[in-house]
Amino acid sequence: MKDPLDLLDIPSLLTEEEREIQSTVARFLADRVRPNLPEWYENAHFPRELAPELGKLGVLGMHLEGYGCAGTGAVSYGLACLELEAADSGFRSFVSVQGSLAMYSIHRYGSEEQKQEWLPRMAAGEAIGCFGLTEPDFGSNPAGMRTRAVRDGEDWILNGAKMWITNGAIADIATVWAATEEGVRGFLVPRGTPGFTAHEIKRKLSLRASTTAELSFDDVRLPASAQLPHARGLGAPLSCLNEARFGILFGAVGAARDCLQTALAYGDARIQFDRPISGFQLTQRKLADMAVALNNAALLAVHLGRLKEQDRIRPEQISVGKLNNVREAIAIARECRTILGANGISLEYSPLRHANNLESVLTYEGTSEIHTLVVGQALTGLPAYR
Ligand SMILES: Cc1cc2nc3c(=O)[nH]c(=O)nc-3n(C[C@H](O)[C@H](O)[C@H](O)COP(=O)(O)OP(=O)(O)OC[C@H]3O[C@@H](n4cnc5c(N)ncnc54)[C@H](O)[C@@H]3O)c2cc1C
Repeated sequence: MKDPLDLLDIPSLLTEEEREIQSTVARFLADRVRPNLPEWYENAHFPRELAPELGKLGVLGMHLEGYGCAGTGAVSYGLACLELEAADSGFRSFVSVQGSLAMYSIHRYGSEEQKQEWLPRMAAGEAIGCFGLTEPDFGSNPAGMRTRAVRDGEDWILNGAKMWITNGAIADIATVWAATEEGVRGFLVPRGTPGFTAHEIKRKLSLRASTTAELSFDDVRLPASAQLPHARGLGAPLSCLNEARFGILFGAVGAARDCLQTALAYGDARIQFDRPISGFQLTQRKLADMAVALNNAALLAVHLGRLKEQDRIRPEQISVGKLNNVREAIAIARECRTILGANGISLEYSPLRHANNLESVLTYEGTSEIHTLVVGQALTGLPAYR
């Protein structure tokens, strides 16, 4: 079986248009991204120059309406994330941060002027965005943030630091969340604003084909027009994270599918004891268990996508999806690595690269522990994380 998602005929759940979008994205990645991935990963390189091509492909802010965005349904967006992450989580991260965090924050909470200024260029991949919520001392608990914005006449003065910010060092515009006297507020900080610096975080063992930075704000003066006027309180950045998590729960299916496809092909070709290793019962048990988990994850993703399209998805349902699909994907990636034996530790094959990437995916956008507690709270009414 070429595609393990054919086991349950997952494509039959999709419309023709959704399948067409999925295969267009897959073709682009096969042509422009996949051949170069081992090198980019090894050299910790994200090819920024591909951003306009991703823009032309229509995947940047693709689920948003207007301002040059494609305005597709949730499942189409999810399928694009699935294919991006089947190539590499770094590419899906780039698209998620650009569309679901940076663009979404402007689209939902920005003024008309902010939308006109940034969204068309971001959709085209001409301007890159990032989203700064996490700080060195506050990750799972962003409510404790120390980054602060204080009014000075009509202006704001911003001080603080943000950590682990995807696209931070290449971004033209940063959505930055800061505590103010009136609660958490969002600000748009363009690259080059005096006092704003971004430093690339080096020596990552995960998401190497993605760029991650630490942002510093030292008496950064911002005009009143830099504030996102409709963002009030921590609920605003958390709503953006929910958008991005939705892409992740599809993306994880893609990473796992790529690993399983790799293991199936390898198991067929690799001969030990005079027969293909995929003929051994122990290997088949691994393959069958992984195919079941993968197809279940895909069913869950499509189900949640349909709920989102009907505008009735709840945050704890997205937590179920992110928790399950990333957990299953990382287990599948590691198991596939074993089927490849020693070759499994080489960058020539994808499973260990995916497994390493998925370590980040398990942690960012809410750790697996926090999503477990969100589900626990939904079941019991008791918040155990505070
Ligand atoms: C590659 C990468 C890219 C990222 N990109 C971005 C980005 O673009 N923008 C952004 O804002 N952030 C980004 N992040 C940050 C990410 O969202 C945080 O790392 C994440 O929220 C966890 O925070 P932390 O690392 O500080 O871990 P901590 O919050 O310190 O957690 C450490 C451990 O303690 C556990 N823990 C914490 N609190 C509880 C609790 N109440 N109960 C049980 N267990 C708990 C956690 O689950 C985890 O296992 C990125 C991270 C990575 C690795």
